[in-house]
Amino acid sequence: MRPEILHPVFMGLNTIKGVGERSLKLLSNLAGDKVIDLLWHLPANIIDRRSSPSLREAVSGRIYTLKVRVIDHLPPKTKKHPYRVVVEEVHPQAVVPEQLTLVFFKVYADSIHKNLPIGAERVISGKLDNFNGGWQMSHPDFIAKSEDFEKLKSVEPVYPLTAGITNKMICKWMPTALAKLPQLPEWIDSHLLKQKGWNSFNSSLLVAHHPQSLDDLSPASLPRVRLAYDELLANQLSLAFARDRSRKKNGRIIKGNGHLRQKVITTLPFQLTNAQKRVLEEIYADQETETKMLRLVQGDVGSGKTIVALLAMLNAVECSCQAAIMAPTEILARQHFETIAPICDTLGLKVGILTGRNKGKERKKLLSDLADGFINILIGTHALFQEDVTFNDLACVVIDEQHRFGVQQRLGLSKKGDRADVLVMTATPIPRSLVLTAYGDMDYSQIDEVPPERKPVDTRVISLEKISDVVHALQRKIISGSRAYWVCPLVEESEKSDLAAAKERFESLQKIFGEDVGLVHGKMKDAEKDDVMTRFKNGDIKLLVATTVIEVGVNVPEATVMVIEHAERFGLAQLHQLRGRIKRGIEASSCLLLYGYPLSETARERLNIMRETENGFLIAEKDLELRGGGEILGTRQSGFCSFRLADMSVHKDLLHVAHQDAKLIINTDPQLSTSRGEALRILLYLFERDNAIKTYTAG
Ligand code: ADP
Ligand code: MG
Repeated sequence: MRPEILHPVFMGLNTIKGVGERSLKLLSNLAGDKVIDLLWHLPANIIDRRSSPSLREAVSGRIYTLKVRVIDHLPPKTKKHPYRVVVEEVHPQAVVPEQLTLVFFKVYADSIHKNLPIGAERVISGKLDNFNGGWQMSHPDFIAKSEDFEKLKSVEPVYPLTAGITNKMICKWMPTALAKLPQLPEWIDSHLLKQKGWNSFNSSLLVAHHPQSLDDLSPASLPRVRLAYDELLANQLSLAFARDRSRKKNGRIIKGNGHLRQKVITTLPFQLTNAQKRVLEEIYADQETETKMLRLVQGDVGSGKTIVALLAMLNAVECSCQAAIMAPTEILARQHFETIAPICDTLGLKVGILTGRNKGKERKKLLSDLADGFINILIGTHALFQEDVTFNDLACVVIDEQHRFGVQQRLGLSKKGDRADVLVMTATPIPRSLVLTAYGDMDYSQIDEVPPERKPVDTRVISLEKISDVVHALQRKIISGSRAYWVCPLVEESEKSDLAAAKERFESLQKIFGEDVGLVHGKMKDAEKDDVMTRFKNGDIKLLVATTVIEVGVNVPEATVMVIEHAERFGLAQLHQLRGRIKRGIEASSCLLLYGYPLSETARERLNIMRETENGFLIAEKDLELRGGGEILGTRQSGFCSFRLADMSVHKDLLHVAHQDAKLIINTDPQLSTSRGEALRILLYLFERDNAIKTYTAG
């Protein structure tokens, strides 16, 4: 249960005076729909209203707060003209006070008379302009009574906005939101607090919302660093709980005699790389111990993860247990089946495949074979984890291409085989620091080597203006027997236009390549998708126009050319994944990155990195440097490991501190029962990382 102290900030934003239905909807897209979401919404800029010179010293175009006396009203001659109000400065240094004109379009004379009566003294704040030799201010941001002078001379935070939500609105709501935050106890270790010079959470948040200079907006400013640490600590602590929980569940000792594995290794047409061997040893060691395995295997595209998974599963099968491997898509599940089933056939093992497409009798039979233990290895999509799927004795679960699944799924996963070992494989190279934030609950192995015979990909960066040259080159390639992908750009705003762009490209290429072109996109039914992929694999289709659905794992060794349209719109990690598709064969392949204008400096730099290296880890590090962590993990799609306050390109070092801190907490106060523990519990709920602790205390 959420600690009571947090209730006020977990209320809906409509509990704030002035936030109506419409604003609530806009706010929930901008920040979230709870009070706490608004509190996490930090200023991105400032308006400095502190300057109030005499007009003689003023500079056109700046923001000033000025004391003035109203001299005259000049109502407009027609509706098109503005209402003007002539005022005179009231300034101790103005020996001869100058005048300035306030300009208002489309206002009611009534309100002007009320706010700026002739003869009255007022304070105005806004942008001062020099117009035809005279000073003017159109639509001052503030008009107030002169006693508010000092109050108005402040620095105003400028928040990230969205259409329909003005900065004024947010500035009005924010104090109310901040007032709802109760004084929270300190959860940070007192030594660390002292060492870093941090203030309390409440004060840090308050200061973060009242920046006094541009420096205060920096993620490296003291209050923001403290808030980032809070978020990282919540993240690391929840992962540490998840880890501890899975540790405490007993696993079982899996130690086969090796007869199946040996047979597979001797019949493989290649030697395992040293990296594969090392990672396998790490996995076998986990399987052998009595605690449950929870291990992440990271390996670049083409590093040979499938065979590693198979050998781990065979270890379980040697012990007369079952194993399962789950892929994120139907196509990938089938691909695994095609690789794994023939090998297992020769071993006399039975492999089943279960996806959303298995229906009726056939499905029933499969499930009963599974429950009876006739099936040794089951391959499938998330359909594997449907209610009615029961194993006879599941001892090893492999999840392929994990970044498509989330931490929650991982936590709930082991239900099928309570003591089953879990192996997670991902091809997304993730910098070490980010591994901690996303997979801090797991052990970690890296296949840091690709099989030696792979030829490098010839990567070129080409302007979209040269597209017809590209098409001609493609024609020659295809005539000489190559197969090629044409990847269409991601259009951020709507999936629909994404698809429209791909269809358009498909049609224009069809005019040149005729029957040789196919189209595959995310909106197709699985069966249709598979059909197109199969025809591409068989060579009935030679040029495949695709949206990013081909991104993950599809294996067509004959495809040696890839064109990526508007490559600058893709994340580096995504480009790397895509390019991996054409590294499957031993033939040399080429990748053409087409870019459009305008191309920013960063975008150019990113494309150059793609040209210079094929090392996924290097690419991932660079990507992190160039645009921060969220993109790498594809968090925008999966919604996990997204930080509100921490920025991994700035706060990386803090993560390690938080990691150590979390470990210590789990060891010394596993029930969070000390007074610091109580505070940490609040922290977990504050950042909505409470799921781990809920399941922890329940189980
Ligand atoms: P990924 O890590 O991207 O999933 P796969 O497991 O699909 O890679 O392997 C890619 C290809 O490399 C497959 O055709 C596989 O048979 C082959 N392969 C795997 N390991 C080796 C190796 N040690 N030497 C040569 N080829 C290998
Ligand atoms: Mg794979």
